Amino acid sequence: MSIAAPTAETRWRCTLCGNLTRFDVTRSSRVTDFLHFNLSGESKVEETQVLSETIESVRCRWCNAVDQVELVARPGAEEAPEGDAQQG
Ligand SMILES: [Zn+2]
Repeated sequence: MSIAAPTAETRWRCTLCGNLTRFDVTRSSRVTDFLHFNLSGESKVEETQVLSETIESVRCRWCNAVDQVELVARPGAEEAPEGDAQQG
């Protein structure tokens, strides 16, 4: 089962407890990294290109429910001013 990722207009909400802010996300991704090595052989990832990504499960940090999230509209997605009630 895969979970839909939040977008610019949506975010996750736990359907059981209403948590909007804290989730453990297990995902698998296939990426291409641009590794930049210095002369001593240390490497640094300078660029990461995500080729594909699948969210495998999302666990609520508040109530531990697994895959019980729904996508809801972000408060500022339409035209609402910022400053909505933030959760812990
Ligand atoms: Zn929850």
